[in-house]
Amino acid sequence: MYITNIQHLLDASEKMAEEMPKEARELIGFLTLVIDATTKTLPSTLTTTDIRCFQKGCSGLIKSAFRPDTGEIHWYCPDCENEGAIGEWQKTKWDNRTNSKL
Ligand SMILES: [Zn+2]
Repeated sequence: MYITNIQHLLDASEKMAEEMPKEARELIGFLTLVIDATTKTLPSTLTTTDIRCFQKGCSGLIKSAFRPDTGEIHWYCPDCENEGAIGEWQKTKWDNRTNSKL
């Protein structure tokens, strides 16, 4: 289970982009895709996206949901059962809510 405060991750990636391991950059890329896809529709139950799991050797399609109780985005890979929650994604550039609701 990955619990990610995306803001911390983005701050870290700006400060140390060069030293950041490839895996960490891939994880950020993955998480921002999940934020982008999930905030378009804010599904309340796990809904399949077109995002591939980032685990090596897994080609599962990620499911994601918005959890209004915590404000987190929950994601889950049905193939390898990898899952996580993303917090503090609001007002990042991948937050698509304002496009539809304002
Ligand atoms: Zn997977």
